[in-house]
Amino acid sequence: MNELKPIYTKKADCQDCYKCVRECPVKAIKIEDNSACIVDELCIHCGKCVLVCPSGAKKIRNDVAKVRQAIDMGRNVILSVAPSWRAEFVQLHSSQLISAIKKLGFSQVSETAIGAQMVSKGVADLIDSSDNKIFLSTACPTVVEMMYKYYPKFVAYFTPLVSPLAAHVKYLASISAPNTQFAFVGPCAAKKIEFDLFNENILAALTFENLHKWFEESNIDPYALDPDSSETFYPFDSSDGGLYPIDGGMISGIKGRLQKQNVEFMCFSGIKAIIAAMGDLDKFSPNRQIFIELLACGGGCVNGPGMRHKESTVLKRDNVYSNVVNTIDFDKPLYGINIGAEIQIKPIISGVYSEPMIRSALQRVGKSSLKDELNCGSCGYDSCRDFAVALLNGKAMENMCASYMRKLASKKANALIKAMPAGVVIADSAMRIIECNKHFASIFGSEIEMIFEATPGLEGAMLNKIVPFYKLFQKVLVTGEDLVDSEMDYNNHRLNISVFSIERNQVVGAVIQDIRVPHVRREQVVKRVEEVIKLNLETVQKIAYLLGENASETEIRLNNVLEAFKETAEVDNGVHTENI
Ligand code: SF4
Ligand code: SF4
Ligand code: SF4
Repeated sequence: MNELKPIYTKKADCQDCYKCVRECPVKAIKIEDNSACIVDELCIHCGKCVLVCPSGAKKIRNDVAKVRQAIDMGRNVILSVAPSWRAEFVQLHSSQLISAIKKLGFSQVSETAIGAQMVSKGVADLIDSSDNKIFLSTACPTVVEMMYKYYPKFVAYFTPLVSPLAAHVKYLASISAPNTQFAFVGPCAAKKIEFDLFNENILAALTFENLHKWFEESNIDPYALDPDSSETFYPFDSSDGGLYPIDGGMISGIKGRLQKQNVEFMCFSGIKAIIAAMGDLDKFSPNRQIFIELLACGGGCVNGPGMRHKESTVLKRDNVYSNVVNTIDFDKPLYGINIGAEIQIKPIISGVYSEPMIRSALQRVGKSSLKDELNCGSCGYDSCRDFAVALLNGKAMENMCASYMRKLASKKANALIKAMPAGVVIADSAMRIIECNKHFASIFGSEIEMIFEATPGLEGAMLNKIVPFYKLFQKVLVTGEDLVDSEMDYNNHRLNISVFSIERNQVVGAVIQDIRVPHVRREQVVKRVEEVIKLNLETVQKIAYLLGENASETEIRLNNVLEAFKETAEVDNGVHTENI
């Protein structure tokens, strides 16, 4: 586990379900020792994996300790609060939030939205002074990383300005005492990257989730504090910059400051929407100027991964709109500060693989023709070919392919069933045989044995036409309860029968032994069943997890059968209760 990275995996909690692989827009996840680890160089810190991980194994680094330490050492620390606070602390008066944050030890609380207003002004000035036709801009570090790493051909369209957060910190530094330090709180995991790259005056970026926990640990309830008109944001309240956390908010601020007419504005939020929108932008030469705003989270930062408050985007937007003073305030002394940016993020060079290499990778997971390529997505990749490429570049492992694992498990199970020194049969709820071995067929006479020779496994044959004690199977199918160690005489055989539920009410199995045949020993059966369990446990559980089935129950039932056989093996020819 690398806790120093902004987003990381707690390996012990990973259930290798590949949900994060599926959701990761840039496939920055590598499977190592059956855990889904993030390759930080490939990651764009969108936090999608954190939101979808069912076991909480994906984490956003918590930097509260770093900030607390600075406060405890008596440092002057100002907190920059993202404008999405209005959607996170619903119906909380700004003075209540400021008072609560100051109780944690911060000297001042300021709105990142002030930096957003600086950026709006900077972008408007750029458009006014340029003949360029296309401008891309974003307040979102994830979009910046995504474009620089994966779509470098669009980088030339970006407005070369720092983010609202960086602009805000520059402004605060210009009006604060030397050695003042700054921290940020907001809905975003990617902001940590910005802070990691800044100078020593920048402490850390926290999430709203971190702030809630910090309040709780300190027994501070912002809602319980009295509104206090003397508590205001430092050095003043923001205005239209407060709209930045909703898509289109940046456009609103630029429009209000732009001199030119006839500029067309577009906004795309959500990574998939951005990728779809950008496709062939480089081939587009419009006859007018176009400005495009981009945000990685669908609907904007109000849906960021660090938000605790989960409500509909409509309500979040309403909370922002109805609490922002949407005026362009030109009087504030924000605009003399240089907010030009030089971004140094290198593009990712992807491996290029020849067709024969891809084909050979596909064969590693049993896909030798096009019809074998199911493109089911259970591995986390959109297609079998994408998965093959991930195998080649070392990000994926063969056992991520559910269809391959299922075939493998089925082959193993068939081999083991064949090798068992007792009759084994598996049937479905309609009493159709799914699988049986030769020992089973031989117990029921030469005719059944001949049919078995023609149709190995007797797949589809009706169990109730072959087995006189088929009611045992029906009983287990109905009740879901195992029937272990029933005994009966049949055709000069003394049969010991254990029927067990494999999939409750759906699939039933049985182990049948002729206990008069001397070479059939219970110890052998116990050993074989143990082998079945041992060899299949990992595979069965993995497949079942991928397919959402309950494998552990099946395993418990098999173990019950095994235990029963063990007990009777110890008694060896002891008296058994008839329960047919
Ligand atoms: S989503 Fe699944 S594979 Fe990814 S970290 Fe969480 S448990 Fe592991
Ligand atoms: S944060 Fe985003 S880019 Fe990084 S691994 Fe998670 S889903 Fe992928
Ligand atoms: S949209 Fe906002 S919250 Fe989401 S990644 Fe971008 S900056 Fe962070």
